[in-house]
Amino acid sequence: MSLKIINKEDLLPFVSNMLREYEVLGPVANDTGFKFAALTDAAQVRLDYNTTILPPRKALLPTQETLFTFRTDMPSVTPAFDMRWRVLFGVHTCDLHAMRMLDEVFARGNPDAHYMKRRATTAIVSVECLEACDEHSFCKSMNTLTATSGFDLHLIGLGDFYAVDVGTTAGDALLENHCKSHEATRPELVLLDKTMSAKWAKFPSRLSLEGKDLPALMGISYKSPVWEEIGVRCFGCGACNIVCPTCYCFDVRDEVSLDGKTGERSRIWDSCQLDEFARVGTGENFRKTHAQRLRHRFMRKGKYIAEAYPGQQGCVGCGRCARACLVDITPVGVWNALHKAHAM
Ligand code: SF4
Ligand code: SF4
Repeated sequence: MSLKIINKEDLLPFVSNMLREYEVLGPVANDTGFKFAALTDAAQVRLDYNTTILPPRKALLPTQETLFTFRTDMPSVTPAFDMRWRVLFGVHTCDLHAMRMLDEVFARGNPDAHYMKRRATTAIVSVECLEACDEHSFCKSMNTLTATSGFDLHLIGLGDFYAVDVGTTAGDALLENHCKSHEATRPELVLLDKTMSAKWAKFPSRLSLEGKDLPALMGISYKSPVWEEIGVRCFGCGACNIVCPTCYCFDVRDEVSLDGKTGERSRIWDSCQLDEFARVGTGENFRKTHAQRLRHRFMRKGKYIAEAYPGQQGCVGCGRCARACLVDITPVGVWNALHKAHAM
């Protein structure tokens, strides 16, 4: 829509002003690194964070959420919707791509009312990464190291100021009402161009093939021995799913009060790597082994999502699953091994 400039010294007042009206979730430091959390003070926000253990999808799809409450004595069902206005601040571009995919998944077919309502009341202020998070990120290979949509405002750090790409009218109003800004001048645009051009060389391409070629590779890799090789190492712990910004499977549970008169239905995050995930009521398990479950996960990440939702990606190269896995099962390792085996 337009390109504005804000001074760095105006960033915290911007966050403070938003905090007066909205819940603002942003990256904050904790004992193990950084996490997305509701800010109580603008000074908590850390735009210099590298990554977080859990992705910001938890703001749109909470780890646990009540879908509805019910009564059995006076039969009734009351949907539970979270309609708080909130700002998700400081989202990196890989996570932005993941949330664009979630937006499409939850809107398509039978739209998920809970996700859609929460998404409609959430503004996203993202930030351009100017260097790779660490040795596990491979966003360059997945073409997610920058973004042109999916945000309301997008910040690009340029020394003493930020260029702000205004993506929506809601973003425009957010900036206009909460922060001093001005239209980008010619020298500021030149600096922006130089900064964006210089960043590409700072990101390594860690995959031996391009992300767009993954569906074809996965299509010929269904019977690869790689699945058994990594399957014997895997614990089936599910950590790789829980930290992934593009995983969205959930389990649904009912809890009923002791007198049986009231209760609630909720959903919680689930993991396709857990033994019971594909077990059905009659006892059969469609993916009994670690190898089968890993193959399913990598097929979703490299093929199924891209084919079901053209233009979207099942993996955005954030590297969180690689950091979380205790036995070093990583997308880069698996996909490069499959690529080597097929010498595409
Ligand atoms: S691949 Fe790693 S993180 Fe994922 S289930 Fe197996 S051991 Fe756990
Ligand atoms: S599969 Fe791993 S690298 Fe890809 S998006 Fe999920 S957590 Fe990130």
